[in-house]
Amino acid sequence: MPNKIAIVDGVIRVPDDPIVVLLTGDGIGPEVVGAAVRVVDKAVAIAFGGRRKIAWVEHPAGEAALQAEGELLPAKTLQAVRDHVVALKGPMTTPIGHGHRSVNVEMRRRLDLYACVRPVRYFRGVPSQVRHPEHLNVVIFRENTEDVYAGAEYVAGSAEAGKLLEVLKGFGAELRGDSAIGIKPISEFASKRLVRRAVNYALEHDRRIVTLVHKGNIMKYTEGAFRDWGFAEARAILGERMLTMDEVAGERLPPAGKILVQEKIADAMFQDLIRRPQWHDVIATTNLNGDYLSDAAAAQVGGLGMAPGANIGDDAAVFEATHGSAPQYAGQDKVNPTSVILSAVMMLNYLGWHEAGKLVEGAVEDTIRRRIVTYDLARLMEDATLVSCSGFGKMVEDAMVRRAAEKTTNGPQLGQHTVSQ
Ligand code: NAD
Repeated sequence: MPNKIAIVDGVIRVPDDPIVVLLTGDGIGPEVVGAAVRVVDKAVAIAFGGRRKIAWVEHPAGEAALQAEGELLPAKTLQAVRDHVVALKGPMTTPIGHGHRSVNVEMRRRLDLYACVRPVRYFRGVPSQVRHPEHLNVVIFRENTEDVYAGAEYVAGSAEAGKLLEVLKGFGAELRGDSAIGIKPISEFASKRLVRRAVNYALEHDRRIVTLVHKGNIMKYTEGAFRDWGFAEARAILGERMLTMDEVAGERLPPAGKILVQEKIADAMFQDLIRRPQWHDVIATTNLNGDYLSDAAAAQVGGLGMAPGANIGDDAAVFEATHGSAPQYAGQDKVNPTSVILSAVMMLNYLGWHEAGKLVEGAVEDTIRRRIVTYDLARLMEDATLVSCSGFGKMVEDAMVRRAAEKTTNGPQLGQHTVSQ
């Protein structure tokens, strides 16, 4: 019988045979998730010689759940993620402008997965529109539970919008009577816990710069407050170890043990990521800014098909690709599974199974460097070998077997190699 993962006093406890919830998703979800599961199983088997094994338990969510159970996000599915702490998730479809709210947003809110974490780095060989994609290596922490995504949004002409307009006009706001209304809550509690995660991540991974991204020059009491609370929280955690821009001479990396905490207005940040990518390391930002910024950053290193993500709370974590369900490609075994494979690497690292995570990451790097890619990258490359979604997964599996064999015969042991080698 497999065992449950638990979080006790903020520390994760992982048995050798943990149950992990699988939510395969809509559209291309089952294909990319299927490839990732096979890669993870192989990596764990190789890295731990059969001593460890994940027990995947599939639960319905999204369109499949709507058809089978009449609801998109069944209570039993949410409870399963709460009980088992960790889930790997495929993308889920959300209609625009009508119909149900996003299952993805709802799941993050209901499980209080307050930090959306997106590492963005370059894999050699991936076609990119920028000249030095390798200069970008950032981890973006995006607040996940509030801002204009909090769900307080009212249709133009509705009774709710009418009432709000009356109240707001009473405060002196000049608003048109036919306005739809969306509310943007930004709280001290949510801002501080997000920044805390970003700063602690920087400390644990020896990253020396934390950038607070906001639009506080315009939205002073929401985005501006995020900035103020962010600096206060960083100072509370780092004390003397925190440096500000005034204390850093030129654009130099702070010395070991110190972290520069800087701020950037959101629009300027988009420029900066392209013009001075080396000057950013860990980014903490509000929900909407983070949504835009993570896709823009992913575009620099080869697009959404390459970018992994995780939604992490204090009690649970859901790992998922950053792209959507791309329904036009569903069932064709064609799309790139790298985003969800790399999300699964984040999951392995979250479990503390770093040896398996490194093995997968190295094998993905290897496969792409050998120019074996899916259609989205192949069409931008010369001399590429085009493979299917499942074919790419199989190539990654083969690369892991090859690398493991090479390591045992003539190289360092597993877990000792660096992913950038
Ligand atoms: P999308 O990410 O599905 O597709 C955007 C573009 O990227 C398309 O050209 C698509 O072909 C391409 N693409 C996406 N994933 C790819 C992959 N793995 N390999 C190669 N190419 C890939 O975004 P969209 O079309 O705006 O959204 C489709 C649906 O997905 C919508 O209902 C949206 O709400 C939903 N969505 C879900 C999530 C999530 O589940 N977290 C995230 C974003 C969008």
